[in-house]
Amino acid sequence: MDTYTYQIGNNLYINLTNRCSNRCAFCVRDQSAQYEGYSLWLEREPTAKEVTERIGDPKRYDEIVFCGYGEPTYRLDELLEICDYVHANGGKTRLNTNGHLLLIHGKEIAAGLKERMAGKLDGINVSMNAPDGESYHKLCRPVLDREGTESFEAMILFAVLMKEFGENVWFSVVDCIGKEQLSKCRRNAEMLGIPLRVREMIGEAKGV
Ligand code: SF4
Repeated sequence: MDTYTYQIGNNLYINLTNRCSNRCAFCVRDQSAQYEGYSLWLEREPTAKEVTERIGDPKRYDEIVFCGYGEPTYRLDELLEICDYVHANGGKTRLNTNGHLLLIHGKEIAAGLKERMAGKLDGINVSMNAPDGESYHKLCRPVLDREGTESFEAMILFAVLMKEFGENVWFSVVDCIGKEQLSKCRRNAEMLGIPLRVREMIGEAKGV
């Protein structure tokens, strides 16, 4: 049976898709068929109902986190529907995203996005991981543009938009990128007035 939800600690994670607009050098899905004992490759993407049935009572968890072997915002409609269910039943939601929503769905999606997103997510974690388009291209190996600049810019723009919309947004970087790159990422985040968190890399970075 496909793993649409998986528990780690007190959080329940939602695995909506295996599609991704990056091929990050550090991505755990290239290093193991399993993560924390869960097989996260999907035969079929779930409906929102299939996910909410597996969540059950969201109050049993600290957070319901959208984070799988893929980029959750490919499934934006289902993601937002699941958020409604979680909130209606007293739970909390978080999105871990590579920030490519505007690339994946096209910039037109920005119109009306504020209203669509309002109140749906209690936290939005946008992976920055590199301070500029060139190093982003090298580390995250985006697939929707050739040079990486567009993907990097889309990621920054998404975070800025979410901040403007009044959402609780922060950047994250993996700790494998080195001190110099990390301090440049910090400068980016400070300039944009968005917090930055450093997270431990899972597995190993390849080809960095
Ligand atoms: S954005 Fe996430 S799922 Fe996609 S390749 Fe990078 S680490 Fe893997």
